[in-house]
Amino acid sequence: MSKGIFITGTDTNVGKTIVTWALGVVLQEKKIDVGVMKPVQCAGDDARFLKKNLNLQDDIKDINPYYAAEPLSPHLAFSRQKQKISIKKIESIYKKLSQRHDFMLVEGAGGLMVPITPKYLMVDLIKDLELDVIIVTRLGLGTINHTLLTIKQAQDFGLTVCGVIFNQVENKKLGLVEQDNPKIIEKISGVPVLGIIPYLKNHPNTNTRCLGGFLDGLNLDGILGVEFVEKNRERLVSDDKKYLWHPFTQMKDWVQENPLVIDRARGSYLVDVDGNKYLDGVSSLWVNVHGHNHPVINKAIKEQLNKLEHSTLLGLSNTPSIELAKALVKITPKGLEKVFYSDSGSTSVEIAIKMAYQYWQNVGQTKKINIVHLDNSYHGDTLGSVSIGGIDLFHKVYRNLIFKTIKLDFPDSLDKFEAMLKKKCKTIAALVVEPMVQGAAGMIVWPKGILKRMAQLCKQYDVFLICDEVATGFGRTGKMFACEHENVKPDILCLAKGITGGYLPLAATLTTKKIFDGFCFEYADQKTFFHGHTYTGNPLACVAALANLEIFRQEKTLMKLQPKIKFLKRQLKRFYDLPCVGDVRQKGFMIGIELQKEIGVQVCQKTRERGVILRPLGNVIVLMPPLSISQKELKKLLDVTYWAIEEIVSKNEQ
Ligand code: PMP
Repeated sequence: MSKGIFITGTDTNVGKTIVTWALGVVLQEKKIDVGVMKPVQCAGDDARFLKKNLNLQDDIKDINPYYAAEPLSPHLAFSRQKQKISIKKIESIYKKLSQRHDFMLVEGAGGLMVPITPKYLMVDLIKDLELDVIIVTRLGLGTINHTLLTIKQAQDFGLTVCGVIFNQVENKKLGLVEQDNPKIIEKISGVPVLGIIPYLKNHPNTNTRCLGGFLDGLNLDGILGVEFVEKNRERLVSDDKKYLWHPFTQMKDWVQENPLVIDRARGSYLVDVDGNKYLDGVSSLWVNVHGHNHPVINKAIKEQLNKLEHSTLLGLSNTPSIELAKALVKITPKGLEKVFYSDSGSTSVEIAIKMAYQYWQNVGQTKKINIVHLDNSYHGDTLGSVSIGGIDLFHKVYRNLIFKTIKLDFPDSLDKFEAMLKKKCKTIAALVVEPMVQGAAGMIVWPKGILKRMAQLCKQYDVFLICDEVATGFGRTGKMFACEHENVKPDILCLAKGITGGYLPLAATLTTKKIFDGFCFEYADQKTFFHGHTYTGNPLACVAALANLEIFRQEKTLMKLQPKIKFLKRQLKRFYDLPCVGDVRQKGFMIGIELQKEIGVQVCQKTRERGVILRPLGNVIVLMPPLSISQKELKKLLDVTYWAIEEIVSKNEQ
């Protein structure tokens, strides 16, 4: 819920100002201190009219910071009078006014798609001010089309349309058309009609009486006030506790807590149902890449939605899954030529293990049945992935359900690995690793050269190398894939998390032609890869992934990331000044700050007070922001984290 509303119209001259004024009157009657803004105005006296008739004390230059003399579209009117519009200035005045008043009414100029500048439309301003909208329209023939188009366009841009208000712009009796307009528009769009404003004889010197019954009939419950927000939040939290079981969460504790409920997001920020903004310090569990609500990914999914939401890859193919497979082969290390889709990191690893294992069975080397993995590894929560997991807290309880593996110590594993390969390579199918960074283990960064050497040993002893880049993939370590740091070409590569830019569940297991060919036999030989999930290759997820890659190119994400990584490196040094910090680890945008006390949860709870969301791994504070985060936001992330650690440590010492 926003603490204000934006009043836009289907066209110019539909009576937005009268509606703004009427809403102001209703709010003032409810004892709500209302503020008004008309950010840009081209001719007319709307702002003065509102100031006068709502008795506003604010300066007219705040109510209307930009005034053009000619009645033209703002982009033209202001360029003709050689005036530049600063959106930052509008935002800061809005902020100032909204701090002064309980509720803000912001009136647009023209409709949603009117350009304020050639590159910045009215709809962009509404999004930047984070306001919900009311659409003002007129009664009469032609209005159904205009109104429905405006509602649809607003919703396509991710705006919440609170309602439609009709204006009777002509002094005539309401006929069949006018009587039907509100009903049919409400029915088709599902957006409530909040009221109809009667024809006003005396505009602009109007008074409330001339609105007749309109004010009483106006239903504003849905757009107003703290009471509504609070009720909404209470209901959601209560239903959460009643119906949800949260992952990796002790639910006995959860039901005692007062959880945040996220309602929307934009860029590096998440916004809760109360409208509070939080920096998404862990990219919504390591998935978000280019920021939330990115127009390119939004558009790709919306367009695909109108074509094909899902069709199976079992026995059929679909356009986006083919295009994405080709694109993935192009950007991943050389030698990976085939793409097998699934829907989570765990399944991508599950598939990799089964592929490696079955390959050796299929080609007659039936003794190669063992999987080697590293101590402290984490590859997901399905039983196959748990089998190769090395984190006792998560995995121990399932020991009777999982298969036997060979676990290697880390990081002094190279000699042992070679000795083991010498002895047992004829029984080993594959080595699985999280290359360069062991994420869930607490952001353990590999020493230089180990991955390269491991890859050489695997090759030498005919053991497949499976690289699980679920966490490290898509730029997280500073390169597109972590393997690239040591120029390693795995036999199997697992991708998930960031593959869709953090939008939809999708995973891919890529492999070589050699492994693929090990499955190509007569059907009767029963050597087919009998594995597949219902949503394999989902078209919506695949177009999101294609858009994700497109943004990497368009925005030069990896290039822009490098100075931010350096900035982080410099800034992270000061964490050693904190007495309880044991280690600070960083690989690109993956950071672990290890504390010597078990205060990870408390610290991450504390950062919320200053608008930062984090999730720790035990006593390791993880920072893994979206790659698109600005340097200013990064600074905030670090400052708040530093402050929270300091606060919790000193509180615990008291
Ligand atoms: N592999 C790695 C390296 C991971 O970090 C994770 C998740 N953190 C997974 C696999 C499992 O992915 P998912 O949660 O999507 O199943």
